[in-house]
Amino acid sequence: MPHDKDTELYRRTLATWGEQAQHDQAVEECAELATALLHYRRGKAGADQVIDEMADVILMLGQLRWMFGSEKVDRAVTRKRAKLEALLRQVNSGKGGEG
Ligand SMILES: [Mg+2]
Repeated sequence: MPHDKDTELYRRTLATWGEQAQHDQAVEECAELATALLHYRRGKAGADQVIDEMADVILMLGQLRWMFGSEKVDRAVTRKRAKLEALLRQVNSGKGGEG
């Protein structure tokens, strides 16, 4: 749930640059994070660079969540979390007693 200052920031950002620009910016920030992670794995980037790109993506996801509807997004997250929990139970069901 965004704080009021976040919602105000998202509203101003959308009013200034428009919806399509925000979609494009989200794509760009996700690509930058992906690149930073690949560089981090190869020792070409530090954790600080990854964290910096994560911050950009977190802000963009907040923006998109607000634009697409926070409640709808939160329901999707809840649904995905339940699927992941089910998958973990399935994967780990045969591992009991070996560790
Ligand atoms: Mg970035």
